[in-house]
Amino acid sequence: MLRNNIYYSIKPLVPRRLQIIARRCLVNQKLTRCRDVWPIDESAKRPPERWSGWPAQKQFALILTHDVESAKGQDKCDELMRLEEEMGVRSSFGFVAEEYELAPEIRHRLTDRGFEVNVHGLRHDGKLYKSKKSFQTQALRINRYLKEWGAAGFRSPSMYRNLEWIHDLQIEYDASSFDTDPFEPQPDGMRTIFPLFMGTNSHCGGYVELPYTLPQDFTLFVLMRQKNIDIWMQKLDWIAKNGGMALVITHPDYMNFSGKNLGIDEYPAAYYKEFLEQIKTRYEGQYWHVLPREIARFWSKNYGSGSHE
Ligand SMILES: [Zn+2]
Repeated sequence: MLRNNIYYSIKPLVPRRLQIIARRCLVNQKLTRCRDVWPIDESAKRPPERWSGWPAQKQFALILTHDVESAKGQDKCDELMRLEEEMGVRSSFGFVAEEYELAPEIRHRLTDRGFEVNVHGLRHDGKLYKSKKSFQTQALRINRYLKEWGAAGFRSPSMYRNLEWIHDLQIEYDASSFDTDPFEPQPDGMRTIFPLFMGTNSHCGGYVELPYTLPQDFTLFVLMRQKNIDIWMQKLDWIAKNGGMALVITHPDYMNFSGKNLGIDEYPAAYYKEFLEQIKTRYEGQYWHVLPREIARFWSKNYGSGSHE
């Protein structure tokens, strides 16, 4: 935690290019030590108790999500929405409520066209969980945005999390965790490729935790400088084989739709398109593709605290 505090306090002073170069070195060092748990942690494939499969006997679930980190990312939401509409898929977009000037019309366009919006924190500064008291104060504001946007879900900036405290949020699901991702600042994974119901002692209430199960685009294409989608497909095939949930996070901020003049923190949006095409080609008709809100409702109904009655 101390290292993270130092990182966030000096981050604004370090040029973006230097930040990325430093992070590339760290990722490379870690990679050699983490080969047995990344991108695949074999222990994560065990299905939950009483597991009776996905609706309509589908082999696996596919959930697409995006975090919109900055105004630059917000400006690219329409293009990403169009790409997904062309491919016949839908996703959720998470906006950072107080980080940049929000464009409510983009949010409305998304929901009108069958996409989902959620709250990706208040600020992207790593301070949400500094103390319980400050979390509770911020939770009130987060709840206000959830209500105003008609959102059912939350994802913490940088995947910092305290799954106990998150019970203060009025959410149906949280998506601030992963099955395995040793490159995140809070690197402990949930070690499952299935959703989890996070109940409370009071017998009712609780939310569904949705870990992401494919590596983040930023890690693969910006930090590891991968030039193809092989790692995504390797992991997807493994999830499909084990009947889990493929949950993907990508960021419009880092997608380059023109294919020209790639910035240091960008990758071609064509990679994402190719990924969607490959899923269709390999697994047409075999996966349950829904929005995070829908999988959370399915999970809560079948595996939630009231599901025994
Ligand atoms: Zn983020």
